[in-house]
Amino acid sequence: TVTTSTGVLTRLIQIMFPLYFSPAVSLQEVDVEGRVRLVMESALTARDRVGVQDFVLLENYNSEAAFIENLRRRFRENLIYTYIGSVLVSVNPYKELEIYSKQQMERYRGVSFYEISPHIYAVSDNTYRAMRTERKDQCILISGESGAGKTEASKKILLYYAVTCPANDHMAALGDRLLQSNPVLEAFGNAKTLRNDNSSRFGKYMDVQFDFRGAPVGGHILNYLLEKSRVVHQNHGERNFHIFYQLLDGGDDDLLNTLGLDRNPQNYNYLVKGNCPRVSSISDKNNWKVVMKALSVIGFTEAEVQKLLNVIASVLHLGNAQFGEGEEGETYITTETQIANLLGVDGSALTEALTHKKLTAKGEEMISPLSFEQAMSARDALAKAVYGRTFTWLVEKLNQSLALRDEIHHSSKGGSVIGLLDIYGFEVLQHNSFEQFCINYCNEKLQQLFIELTLRSEQEEYETEGIAWETVQYFDNKIICDLIEEKHKGIISILDEECLRPGEACDISFLEKLEDRLGGHPHFVTHKLANGKTRRVMSREEFRLLHYAGEVNYNVNGFLDKNNDSLSRNLKEVMCQSENQILSYCFRREEVIDQKRSEMAASQFKNSLMKLMEILMSKEPSYVRCIKPNDAKQPGKFDEVLVRHQVKYLGLMENLRVRRAGFAYRRRFEAFLQRYKPLCPETWPNWHGRLVDGVSTLVNHLGYKPEEYKLGRSKIFIRFPKTLFTTEDMLEAK
Ligand code: ADP
Ligand code: MG
Repeated sequence: TVTTSTGVLTRLIQIMFPLYFSPAVSLQEVDVEGRVRLVMESALTARDRVGVQDFVLLENYNSEAAFIENLRRRFRENLIYTYIGSVLVSVNPYKELEIYSKQQMERYRGVSFYEISPHIYAVSDNTYRAMRTERKDQCILISGESGAGKTEASKKILLYYAVTCPANDHMAALGDRLLQSNPVLEAFGNAKTLRNDNSSRFGKYMDVQFDFRGAPVGGHILNYLLEKSRVVHQNHGERNFHIFYQLLDGGDDDLLNTLGLDRNPQNYNYLVKGNCPRVSSISDKNNWKVVMKALSVIGFTEAEVQKLLNVIASVLHLGNAQFGEGEEGETYITTETQIANLLGVDGSALTEALTHKKLTAKGEEMISPLSFEQAMSARDALAKAVYGRTFTWLVEKLNQSLALRDEIHHSSKGGSVIGLLDIYGFEVLQHNSFEQFCINYCNEKLQQLFIELTLRSEQEEYETEGIAWETVQYFDNKIICDLIEEKHKGIISILDEECLRPGEACDISFLEKLEDRLGGHPHFVTHKLANGKTRRVMSREEFRLLHYAGEVNYNVNGFLDKNNDSLSRNLKEVMCQSENQILSYCFRREEVIDQKRSEMAASQFKNSLMKLMEILMSKEPSYVRCIKPNDAKQPGKFDEVLVRHQVKYLGLMENLRVRRAGFAYRRRFEAFLQRYKPLCPETWPNWHGRLVDGVSTLVNHLGYKPEEYKLGRSKIFIRFPKTLFTTEDMLEAK
């Protein structure tokens, strides 16, 4: 192995070995210092050591074991990226690799996939160039389970654009603001979970708008379903959202004084549930500084920041509000004037609203006291609503700051968009509830999109090239999407119906209604319906969905409440009078006046997903599939069982099959000739006739059998990688 420094030599190597085809191993791999290593092994032994950089090249492409072995080999060599055609598979290294430097970015600029080792920058660059040359909106869909590296991948893509794209004179700082929006979103929307120390608890779709010159000029973020339940409860070993700990650890004494807070997170009920105040991989104090700086770069005024912090502090105080039960069974609350002050509302009105409910019966208003439990849940509901809505406000503020400015609007005409989707992956926990139901539904929808777009584009290519092909069998998960979302019949409709039914509706009656209406559906099972025929024992409070990615049992406990997501009218009334502008913006008076029931959580999520699908369908997609190598968040550890599971539900084998079903390889005639012309005396050194004839002459000379390849209008399609390997080896031997 010869080590050389980057620079002229790199270019030279690239010129000498123009690897048009995804090679078995590129002759150059970049080591951790970013130096180019010339691998002087024979192609075969190198292939053994570092695997193939495109799964399409696997001999045994139906074998899951071979697939995983290839991932493992590459992972061991710190080669975390591998392609399936144009899909990038990424394995979280859980350590800093020095493959993200500016020099690395330069290497990937304008270079095609096949010339250089797989990288997130290659995907970023190819997407950008496709947008520029085809003038078509693009999107990059990043999927994978919690902790697999989705958010890091999306940050790397943004960084790539911020560094490599030309700047717009009017908006030189947009790249900055785009990048700075991340720490803010993460402080308020991320938390430490068992799976990921910095887990995003919301879904995110971000558009980056480019002008006609290819400079980023605007951005827009859509957020999906923040996990609000975390505000009031955390599982063991998990934390609340980062911002609370950052404030307590990083805020200066004066600030904490005005907010009436002390530094110890253990003193706050909303922060102690997980018994995990500190995380070794996180410095709350430093992150606090980063977030405060980011807020100011983005353009938040000091007054706005103060109001934001008042809200955050009010949530902590709410959690500590003491409730008691009076002699008559009525509930009282120890007056915490601090809460009302921070929320900017009237103290006695708040106390009253937290302990009483207002009903309208026969046109008359009645006030009745809440029980202790009811008061506690009213309090939690308020904390969740305040935090959740403030998060939405925050995203809107970020959007204002990223929005296209009028003065450059004209120059952005003719520009296009790259969308980045970083959204929760398929989730199967010990105990699955409403949140997992929504998350997994979202993944069914994304799978639909994937099927539609990959198969469609594959088919389109064969058509434009005039090549006959047979359809591949794949599982179409539309039946599951319908089961969940169909109007009047699907699970979400039934859930809404049950939430609206006055009287005895409860989680169990919801389950019974599901059994009633959906019994017999091939993807729906309950304890009763299964009659003991299922492999895994189910409890009587669960229903099971057979998702495309596997079975999940959902416990119906809390479904109605979470779907209702309701705040009592009294509390809304109090909140909409807040003097804190963030809150008066979040709690609109119309909401109180308008008696019409607002959309329920699941339906709202469904509708936002529909819109998202529309957005994505209008764009040209690229895929990044992230894999988590182990549950211990450790470098170097490759847990085969865990990886196999992800390979399965990410549908990677299917993906590979689809890709391979037609032809593993397709290359434009000129590229193919250029590379292999030395192997045939008639094409060497130059072919002067039509390209298609040159390729035909070449492959005849090489002895390709008719079933091994087809010639399209501009490309050669090769069915088996073996054919190509043999040809590659001939070139090698020459
Ligand atoms: P996800 O968004 O899929 O839940 P993250 O992107 O937050 O996962 O990644 C979880 C953690 O894994 C990160 O905080 C980081 O420590 C590590 N990680 C992920 N991707 C990389 C990478 N490419 N290089 C180094 N570390 C990474
Ligand atoms: Mg994330």
